[in-house]
Amino acid sequence: MKIFCVGRNYVAHAKELGNDVPDEPVIFMKPKSALLQPHTPFYYPEFTNELHYEAELVLRVSKNGKYIPEKHACKYYNGITIGIDFTARDVQDELKKKGLPWEKAKAWDNSAAVGKWVDIKPEPVSKQADRNFYLFKNNEMVQQGNTSLMIFNFDQIIAHISNYFSLNIGDLIFTGTPAGVGECVVGDELHGYIEKDKLLELTVK
Ligand code: MG
Repeated sequence: MKIFCVGRNYVAHAKELGNDVPDEPVIFMKPKSALLQPHTPFYYPEFTNELHYEAELVLRVSKNGKYIPEKHACKYYNGITIGIDFTARDVQDELKKKGLPWEKAKAWDNSAAVGKWVDIKPEPVSKQADRNFYLFKNNEMVQQGNTSLMIFNFDQIIAHISNYFSLNIGDLIFTGTPAGVGECVVGDELHGYIEKDKLLELTVK
């Protein structure tokens, strides 16, 4: 099982971190050991002093494929949830400065939290592009996203990834975070919603 992540997929988020808006999807990966299933404790890692949440819609791949055309991409996933791409921002800033890979900032154990899955059927881009999601920290809304604001939509992401990597049943795709990323500390409670459904609940320990 592989975990793909899209970076800088919302204009306002790319800008809040001082990055250019990409002209093709920015893709990185996390290993299987990064997956944090619902209702599993999450511990603040020792190697960072600046842990950030990045709330993202996550797709669950339901079909094996390679070189998937955009027009068929919606048949390759059958589940969606909200997840958190936890990031050691101080570590990432150092790595970026040196031009080094991001894994130590983003791919560590339990850095890919996912909520409860919602089954979905293949849907046209128009429907994909109207989905709201929210992250609350200690009952205050800190991130609000809508899929219409994605630079690359689900189908474009899947088509692009599949040009480089086989997609396999059970792979996950974190589709990028909207603006509003920020720090969390021990004791913070993070709640993630798609529309009105609370799918993710996590306390930083
Ligand atoms: Mg992210």
